Amino acid sequence: MVRFPYQMEEAMSQVPTIQQFFQQFPDDDACLDYLMVLRYGEVLECPKCLKTGHFTRLKKLPAYACPWCGHHIHPMVGTSFHRSHVPLQKWFYAMYLFTTTRHGVPAKELQRQLGVSYPTAFRMAHKIREYMGHLDGEPPLTGHVEADETYIGGVVKGGRKHGITGRGANKTVVFGILERGGELYTEVVPDASRKSLIPPIQRNCPPGTTISTDEWMPYRNLSKLGYDHHMVEHGGKEYARGGVHVNTLEAFWSMLKRSIRGTHIHVSAKHLPKYLGEFEYRYNLRKNPGQMFPRLLASL
Ligand SMILES: [Zn+2]
Repeated sequence: MVRFPYQMEEAMSQVPTIQQFFQQFPDDDACLDYLMVLRYGEVLECPKCLKTGHFTRLKKLPAYACPWCGHHIHPMVGTSFHRSHVPLQKWFYAMYLFTTTRHGVPAKELQRQLGVSYPTAFRMAHKIREYMGHLDGEPPLTGHVEADETYIGGVVKGGRKHGITGRGANKTVVFGILERGGELYTEVVPDASRKSLIPPIQRNCPPGTTISTDEWMPYRNLSKLGYDHHMVEHGGKEYARGGVHVNTLEAFWSMLKRSIRGTHIHVSAKHLPKYLGEFEYRYNLRKNPGQMFPRLLASL
């Protein structure tokens, strides 16, 4: 378990303000100290001489030395910061922005705020999304879950979203499972067929789980697979019947689509999984917003 020695530890239940961020990370050295403690702890056993001690910062290198034998540890090695020409504090600030902005950060905005080139901002943004995507919700999802798919980008041929011929044509299909009051799992799937939608449910939900879906055909055999399955008939204009609905997940889909439309001009199918990872990350840490930033750093 990593210890957070700084004030952000105490403030984990709250999102740090920009002022708090710059108090904690006034320069690259402060960021490097944080990274060192995060990755190795304040006191560590030297991998070379095996004695335990407090490593001290070297003056001319982004590294720390063993007090006994002088062995160097470079805390940036193995992270994206290592070979980057972007100063560490700018990376930290970019990550801070990603974890504190509800709708994500367009590369243009990152470029402006950090004073880096657009290609650099673009690369940084994708790197950060990739890290966010690695911190997935932990299966199993149990209790009462909602399962639903949505369609992003492209044009729906044949119009009607829920018509069999039109469903998902030319669009990227995203599938999600949301545990009420719990975590969310999402993935990009090849299409909206049974073969694509059912295995993720079986991987993430144990039999016996209560599942709400709409009436889309592939979901109809969930009872046979041992689930307590309930359907709402969207085609029949039914959106909820008691606790049976997929409204929580649909609210997430519309937030995701609004954000993509509003802040990102175009998201290609190739990059969509990273955006999904980003939004899923924020959703799953919604009850502990102050943890978003330290957890993202710890994921390095
Ligand atoms: Zn040593």
